[in-house]
Amino acid sequence: SINGQRSTQDYQQADAAHHIHAFLDQKALNAEGARVIVRGDRLNLWDNEGKRYLDGMSGLWCTQLGYGRADLAQAAAAQFAKLPYYNMFFHTTHPPVIELSELLFSLLPAHYSHVIYTNSGSETNEVLIRTVRKFWQVEGKPDKKIMIGRWNGYHGSTLAASALGGMKFMHEMGGVIPDVAHIEEPYWYAKGGDLSPAEFGLQCARQLEDKILELGADRVAGFIAEPFQGAGGMIFPPESYWPEIQRICRKYDVLLCADEVIGGFGRTGEWFAHQHFGFEPDTLSLAKGLTSGYVPMGGLVLSKRIANALVERGGLFAHGLTYSGHPVAAAVAIANIQAIQNEALVPQVKNDSGPYLQSLLREVFSQHPLVGEIQGAGLVAALQFTEDKTTRKRFANENELAWRCRTLGFEEGVIIRSTLGRMIMAPALIANRSELEELVEKTQKAVDRTA
Ligand code: PLP
Repeated sequence: SINGQRSTQDYQQADAAHHIHAFLDQKALNAEGARVIVRGDRLNLWDNEGKRYLDGMSGLWCTQLGYGRADLAQAAAAQFAKLPYYNMFFHTTHPPVIELSELLFSLLPAHYSHVIYTNSGSETNEVLIRTVRKFWQVEGKPDKKIMIGRWNGYHGSTLAASALGGMKFMHEMGGVIPDVAHIEEPYWYAKGGDLSPAEFGLQCARQLEDKILELGADRVAGFIAEPFQGAGGMIFPPESYWPEIQRICRKYDVLLCADEVIGGFGRTGEWFAHQHFGFEPDTLSLAKGLTSGYVPMGGLVLSKRIANALVERGGLFAHGLTYSGHPVAAAVAIANIQAIQNEALVPQVKNDSGPYLQSLLREVFSQHPLVGEIQGAGLVAALQFTEDKTTRKRFANENELAWRCRTLGFEEGVIIRSTLGRMIMAPALIANRSELEELVEKTQKAVDRTA
């Protein structure tokens, strides 16, 4: 039975018998056994043995409203009963998707007008590549096909999305396509050498100009990046970075494509992370926080320039997904966005919970022998493990250390994420002060035990 009481060992054996898990060595996982999560409320998760974990990662950066929201469940149930499925193929549409779009564009800056809905971040970035290429065809520049991404960027796990991303170990699994290039990530702490952060930010941005000149501006369609790099270490670029990237994109008429899959929907204390960094992308890739992860949904937002060209001069748009704008997903997205608005969560993250988390982390970790840098804004933060703080020398075994810290976190009852020698947290936007205190206290115990 789905909810029946089975032993942990029984669950784990059945899990191992049937599942290939994400981003893990399957044999190593099977030796350890997967944790069986059965229930959630606010930031709390419970496993099948009744142990409670404080979820410091909003699931996978997506449960902006936390777990157990009756309003989202009711929105889904009502829509299931009324119209559980219809689509936006050919000549049909439906009220939930129309109302969602009106709400979405009321949040967005005025230079965006259209959206193509998908079911995930990966799909959104697949659609992005085809849409951008179509745009340039319509503009009479069909050779503008190449997308430039960044090493260690993450844009999803499907073929083209993983190729856009810069995770080499993913490319090795077959994730490469033609007409994609990469530049360095703006990771000052690890790669900045003797340069100041500002100098390094400019240097990284100017690699984009070099790459465009090397490939030819008449062949480059767009540059895609996460406003802050999430899966690749939660790296905030130096302040000099984004204005220079924007200047270069405008100069060579290369579309600036922001992957807002984790930065969107309030994470930094602005509705969208590009607003935190102060730049104006041409496209926004959305997913995750759009529905607080309760049902799958993503979307590609287009500027008026792109949308006008596609609508007025594009002719047939040769694309469609069966579940694009799914009515139940749209109903949940509306309830989710309305709750974020009604509970004033974005200003709360900006003015209260965000600064509170950032200051707690600095209080606890700025003198910690293992931690060389604390980065973040709003409710997203990273701790950099560092062997020598003055030279910014990283541990040779930093991945192992971070993985150990994550495992110790589970023991302490907190879920934080390890990536590339950095510990990451991104709690739900509803987090109150005592939940944030618990998050930092338990993280401190895990980091102390890692040393
Ligand atoms: N883009 C970014 C920035 C992400 O962090 C992710 C997932 O973590 C994706 C895209 C892919 O989204 P999905 O897993 O929904 O396909």
